[in-house]
Amino acid sequence: MSEPSAKPFLFCCRCGNDQLIAESPRCFRCARCGFRHYINPVGAVVAILTDRAGDLLLLRRAHDPGKGRLGLPGGFVEPGETGEDALRREIREEVGLEVPRLEYLVSLPNDYEYQALVTPVLDLVFTAQVASFAEARAVSEVEELVIVAPDRIDFSQLAFRSNAEALRRFVATRVRERS
Ligand SMILES: [Zn+2]
Repeated sequence: MSEPSAKPFLFCCRCGNDQLIAESPRCFRCARCGFRHYINPVGAVVAILTDRAGDLLLLRRAHDPGKGRLGLPGGFVEPGETGEDALRREIREEVGLEVPRLEYLVSLPNDYEYQALVTPVLDLVFTAQVASFAEARAVSEVEELVIVAPDRIDFSQLAFRSNAEALRRFVATRVRERS
């Protein structure tokens, strides 16, 4: 995992000055115009999708970060969206499914490294069940779909620590419910 960089921006986004003063690890003040750049997590949503048989739908990522590794359907929340709206949109865009009901599970921090910048992210994790994955297909940003039983997940293949932790918690809950 990469630490958020000490000074993620070289220039003030308001006035273009290059003198940014670190007031804290997550706040940088422009020496010329005084604008404060705060480093706060970006909202993202993640789905643990199961079918009636209890299998999970993972996807192999077509692009970086984590190209070729496994992830869960999901993505960034767009302005004005609720987490639920965003996740339904992402599930539709990535795997072509409509989910009847989303259930909130947990929130987990993540780091998203892209274009040489590490962005802190807060993943909101939801679970949802569909009748079957027969209609699922790899659509946008997905190389292939991977349907797997909860006890067969290869955690070393997951692109993001938040996805791995969410799945661990989900699987542990399922095991507890069965025993
Ligand atoms: Zn400035």
